[in-house]
Amino acid sequence: QKITIAVDGYSSTGKSTIAKQLAKALEYIYVDTGAMYRAVTLFAMRNGFIGADGQNTSALVQLLPKAHLKFKYNEEMGYSEMYLNGENVEKEIRSLAVSQQVSKVSAIEEVRYKLVDMQKEIGKEKGIVMDGRDIGTVVFPDAELKIFMTASPETRAFRRYKELLGKGEKVSYSEVLKNVQERDYLDSHREFSPLRRAADAIKFDNSDMGLEEQFERIYNYALR
Ligand code: C5P
Repeated sequence: QKITIAVDGYSSTGKSTIAKQLAKALEYIYVDTGAMYRAVTLFAMRNGFIGADGQNTSALVQLLPKAHLKFKYNEEMGYSEMYLNGENVEKEIRSLAVSQQVSKVSAIEEVRYKLVDMQKEIGKEKGIVMDGRDIGTVVFPDAELKIFMTASPETRAFRRYKELLGKGEKVSYSEVLKNVQERDYLDSHREFSPLRRAADAIKFDNSDMGLEEQFERIYNYALR
């Protein structure tokens, strides 16, 4: 019998890597909700609603219905990619520039309403692994399995740093660490559905754990 799996936690804890593997092994659908908040952020940046010199929340909220988000499955890659108004933005939404704005955009109530609604709609079908910040608390409070991933900020920043370097982005470790810490703070202190562990979520610290061990443990939870 298929279930719903919620994977929440801090930035760069490796949620998506594990969630993807899990979905593949169980033949479930994987949904990366961070990609949705990132796509709305890119939309806001492109329209000049957010940037170094502040943000225009009301203008963004007004134009929000014009931001059409869609996940499209990429056969070759074996996972879904994010499209914003018909354009594949998968690469752009992972940039440090977007990471530096996303926590501000994701704190806006109307943005959360829109995306949480979409996520609930997707989740009507069983057999879902969804990763994010509020999946176990707000989107699927009744999920059969909830995992809350943590790791030290340094571990997470180093992983993200290597990943960005690998993609050819010119970033320093210290600015990545700063971004990870800022997002943790903003995500857990915002007014609407802040990042927190659901009472029934399994706390999973992977600071000193390889990918194989992580997968094995979580896969076993899913089979129970
Ligand atoms: O998971 P990822 O790091 O890609 O998420 C990017 C940002 O999107 C987070 O830092 C957070 O601000 C926001 N987010 C959120 N709620 C979710 C998923 C992501 O607020 N369910």
